[in-house]
Amino acid sequence: MSAVCTLKASETLSVDNYCTLVTEIVLKTCHPIEDLTRDRLLAVAVNAKLQYAVVEVKSFSEDVLMSAGNKKKRLGAVMNEPKKPFFIVAYDLVPTIETKWGVKLIVKKTLFGSDLENCRYVHPINNRECPVVIGGDYITTESGTGLVHTAPGHGQEDYMTGLKYGLPIYSPVDDDGKFTEEAGQFSGLDVLGDGNIAVVKYLDEKMSIVMEESYEHKYPYDWRTKKPTIFRATEQWFASVEGFRQAALEAIGNVKWIPAQAENRISAMTSSRSDWCISRQRTWGLPIPVFYHVSSKEPLMNKETIDHIKSIIAQKGSDAWWYMRVEDLLPDKYRSKASEYEKGTDTMDVWFDSGSSWAAVLGKRDGLSFPADLYLEGTDQHRGWFQSSLLTSIATKGKAPYSSVVTHGFVLDEKGSKMSKSLGNVVDPRNVIAGGQNQKEAPAYGADILRLWVSSVDYTGDVMIGPQILRQMSDIYRKLRGTLRYLLGNLHDWKVENAVSYHELPMIDQHALFQLENVVRNIREGYESYQFFKIFQIIQRFVIVDLSNFYFDVAKDRLYVGGTASFTRRSCQTVLAAHLLSLARVISPILPHLAEDVWQNLPFKYTMEDGSIAEFVFEAKWPASNEKWLTFPVEEIDFWGKILELRTEVNKVLEVARTGKLIGSSLEAKVFLHASDATLASRLLEMCSASNDADTLHRIFLTSQVEVVPSLGNEVVQNIQYTGEYLVQEDRVWIGVSRAEGSKCERCWNYSHQVGSFMEHPTLCGRCFNVVGTQATPVMAAVN
Ligand SMILES: [Zn+2]
Repeated sequence: MSAVCTLKASETLSVDNYCTLVTEIVLKTCHPIEDLTRDRLLAVAVNAKLQYAVVEVKSFSEDVLMSAGNKKKRLGAVMNEPKKPFFIVAYDLVPTIETKWGVKLIVKKTLFGSDLENCRYVHPINNRECPVVIGGDYITTESGTGLVHTAPGHGQEDYMTGLKYGLPIYSPVDDDGKFTEEAGQFSGLDVLGDGNIAVVKYLDEKMSIVMEESYEHKYPYDWRTKKPTIFRATEQWFASVEGFRQAALEAIGNVKWIPAQAENRISAMTSSRSDWCISRQRTWGLPIPVFYHVSSKEPLMNKETIDHIKSIIAQKGSDAWWYMRVEDLLPDKYRSKASEYEKGTDTMDVWFDSGSSWAAVLGKRDGLSFPADLYLEGTDQHRGWFQSSLLTSIATKGKAPYSSVVTHGFVLDEKGSKMSKSLGNVVDPRNVIAGGQNQKEAPAYGADILRLWVSSVDYTGDVMIGPQILRQMSDIYRKLRGTLRYLLGNLHDWKVENAVSYHELPMIDQHALFQLENVVRNIREGYESYQFFKIFQIIQRFVIVDLSNFYFDVAKDRLYVGGTASFTRRSCQTVLAAHLLSLARVISPILPHLAEDVWQNLPFKYTMEDGSIAEFVFEAKWPASNEKWLTFPVEEIDFWGKILELRTEVNKVLEVARTGKLIGSSLEAKVFLHASDATLASRLLEMCSASNDADTLHRIFLTSQVEVVPSLGNEVVQNIQYTGEYLVQEDRVWIGVSRAEGSKCERCWNYSHQVGSFMEHPTLCGRCFNVVGTQATPVMAAVN
């Protein structure tokens, strides 16, 4: 219920002639009517920018007179007086008010809210003079009269306005919600019940009510009892931050904030924050260890009392405050006066509890030192935990309790909606790991896939998860697992002593190690900067795409055809072992189960620098940096970049030849190359006859032959059916594809003129002949 009530302007309200008569202010209470009682309504607020009108009341309309009997809407006694006062209301609201009151209003004068500032009026109950003040933008012409009462003891906005104008903070309401003696004739009445009725009656008798009506507006209710609450200014304990605000701001500058913009957020909040209200009136929580003198209400809290209570709580826990007697809680010095004191019942703000967790943990437990390396929480904690921890630590240690802080967004569903039980879009991590009730819809992915998802998202903002995203993660995980299986499988017979030394490795292998070392370094950088999504991207691109498309693809021939103890196979295995050992370790923070699974299935023992064997992946630690692998010459890096590009272009022409039915497998093809750049041409020529089989160009292209032609003029070249010209970086390269020359080797499927030239093995090529020769099974040889 609310009432529109009139307030008589005092002599000092002299905006013009009208006001010296009986100008009155009409206002709408926006809190329950108890706010109008003595001392509590301390000011009337207007919006400086709004226009106000001084109005005279003329003729009632019949409609409203009829509805005046309505209990929900009733005109006040003053409206029945023959000589009605003038009112000040917001100009824009005049038509609305006319309809509502059922009157005709004549505008006598208009003025701005700012003109009304510091005008004074007489309070209808206590006859005190009170000021008109400028309130905030919350005063609008959407409803009411454009004038709002201000009770600094009973609301946040009013409190701020009260501070600005130096208004006293009165709150004549006790803990039971009843008026105190300060409220005079209303003392003892229930603020929200009979008190309300009494105040309206009183105001009406004093000709101070224009209209009383029920209306709906937003008002806070207690969530548990579902009863309306009252705003009430009370005495509280505050921790002043003035003394160390500057130190806190400086400490913020020394902390590493991830993401970086978090620093601005917490700086702004810390520089503008008011004193910290640390007391609460709750039935549970940590007590504020203060005694009050029974009669003077003076608080007693000093080093002696605190120390004494500290020793009690250290032994018995914080509940001791509640069950122990005052004389036992007081130190010896005060014990004789125990009867003069009572315990405080306020509890500590829970943010003070969590904000001092560093004090209970860091430096008190083995292996944990102050400050913490990292605090990790959601973005909402700049106002909460990050700040409360900072303040308690700065105040007592002069230092932030953390070296770095990571903040993250919140998890939303696949469509970006907030998760809620009623929408049924909640993703329970437990179900992701162990599977939901319907295992078809919600299969058990295991912890690693959930962890892989965490690494894949940019957590600095809100992130999304759902069945579709998890399925994608599962696919990526499976591909990664496939890569690791490929490595394990091809190292089944690997012995560390078989390793080929770096300088003897073919260029393709040195290039692979150069890339691996860079990838390990980039992944390390990703971990160190907490940019896990970058690690995810590198793993996806390098391990799943690059390695499979090139090195592993080319390696198959070396691994399966080259002969088990051949140089080409061993050098390849040297590279694969390096990849396996590095990859298992760099993925282990994100995918510990997969990494350990790999480690437990290593076909060889991994010996660390100190000579001990790493039984578990985490024992093996981070791969040591391999400067040697980075010595791969710059011109070679460029050249191998070109080779990879060229391979892609060659594959395009091969694909066209395949579609044209010239070839089936790429091994049925011979590739012709012509490079206009002489340097590139000579390098390519060199690679056609590389001393080691691994670096030869036709192995890299997976074709049987490659020929680099010096010009495009000769007849053979001109008759080639499938050709193309491509720009490889800045060099033009012509590519032609014809059928490979010679016959197909039965063992390696490469085409060669040599097939048919070996009496013992007429179906083998030269390479295979040598391999079979060195590894020939005695039985077969004997039969032959
Ligand atoms: Zn062969």
